[in-house]
Amino acid sequence: MQGYAPILIIAIALLTGMYLIQSRVTARVDYQCGECEHRFSLTPLMATIAPHRMGSKWVRCPHCGARTWASPVPKA
Ligand SMILES: [Zn+2]
Repeated sequence: MQGYAPILIIAIALLTGMYLIQSRVTARVDYQCGECEHRFSLTPLMATIAPHRMGSKWVRCPHCGARTWASPVPKA
């Protein structure tokens, strides 16, 4: 059990760091659905665990229900 402790601490530290970064990002940007162009905000937790690519997030649109790469757009 003790052998896993450093890995666990590093994993938690990385996740916490990503969560803090995503908190700042999601406070400034909304995401736009690739299917219906509906704009929605993500929680920092969702933004952390969703797969991402060049700033886009692979998430389910709350409006049309499609799973798409949602692009970041500045909050109005
Ligand atoms: Zn949509």
